Amino acid sequence: MKKVEESKIKQVGVIIQMYTIKQGDTVSLVAYKHRIRPIDLLIANPFIRFEQDYLPPGKIVQLPSNASIESEIPAADDLFCEFSLQQLEDDRIKIEEFGVKASVIGFSVMAQPIYAWVIGTGEKKCFYSGGWHANEWHTSKFLSRFLLNCVKKLHSDERWHGFSLAELFTKVQLHIVPMVNPDGIDLVLQGAYEGHPYKQQLIKTNQGLTRFNHWSANIRGVDLNHQWPAGWKEEAEGSPNQPWPRHFGGPYPLSEPEAMAIYQYVKKEQPEYVLAFHSQGQVIYWGYRGLESKASAEMVKKLCQASSYSAIQTADSDAGFKDWFIKETRKSGFTIEVGTGTNPLPPQSFTEIWTNNVSLALTGLSL
Ligand SMILES: [Zn+2]
Repeated sequence: MKKVEESKIKQVGVIIQMYTIKQGDTVSLVAYKHRIRPIDLLIANPFIRFEQDYLPPGKIVQLPSNASIESEIPAADDLFCEFSLQQLEDDRIKIEEFGVKASVIGFSVMAQPIYAWVIGTGEKKCFYSGGWHANEWHTSKFLSRFLLNCVKKLHSDERWHGFSLAELFTKVQLHIVPMVNPDGIDLVLQGAYEGHPYKQQLIKTNQGLTRFNHWSANIRGVDLNHQWPAGWKEEAEGSPNQPWPRHFGGPYPLSEPEAMAIYQYVKKEQPEYVLAFHSQGQVIYWGYRGLESKASAEMVKKLCQASSYSAIQTADSDAGFKDWFIKETRKSGFTIEVGTGTNPLPPQSFTEIWTNNVSLALTGLSL
């Protein structure tokens, strides 16, 4: 079938639009983009069996055009949609409208960009990161939207949650990488589709199954938060020793380009402290083998007060990014576990995550 992008075909008096599925698309994202309901997309395309079914890139779907449906879907309401690199790219363009440009700090295994942004002119640098684990895309959405809001409110000189952003960002320089693992996030949202370069390997690692909702590793089956040079060997002894959906620390520390990109960036920028966002648990881990800075206990108290999350000093595990940062610098590092439930958290979790973490992330800038 000839590929038609957004072209219109008349069928017995009803206008049907054709749309070619892109990388990172899901049923709810395609429906949202075209202001139709997910159910209407399902009805118009019987090959889509249920709302969480994968839509492979390149597949053509029919979009029913229906004025009465269109009017019901608010243009800005993507609260309940998933978040892939495609959405991060959309946000990147919106952020750039306020004069803030992203830089590419590295590339994933599948050569997708890993973006970093910097806002603020202060001397104190802090580093926020998310989207480490494939089925934790909520953290990427949170950080990207937090950044977009900071830039907007800074521009209009608005206060946010009692904070004067203009004042805050003269004291601090926020470095932010919302999506460390774009390939893994695409896998969770779209599966190992026909033509995916890692299809065979992924299905083999997945014991023959073709659903990847539980996947947290990168596309090579390496857990990006399990491969840092901080007790890597000890952690590897109690973890899978081959590519796996989670917890495989790789053949050696920092073997994966995504982890290496963060390593080099943090080495270069030398932030004062780091916040790494994960899901789930509504807890904040703040220590590593007692090597963390003495100030960490007071800092985590403020983060907990801001978010209603609970503090846990250590998870008794090694080889995480925060663990490495603390070991390397003897400064402070925090792992924020957002949301409750089982990963992947449903899209509806975003409202809780947003509410609690806006306050946490703003407080994090003034620690
Ligand atoms: Zn995680």
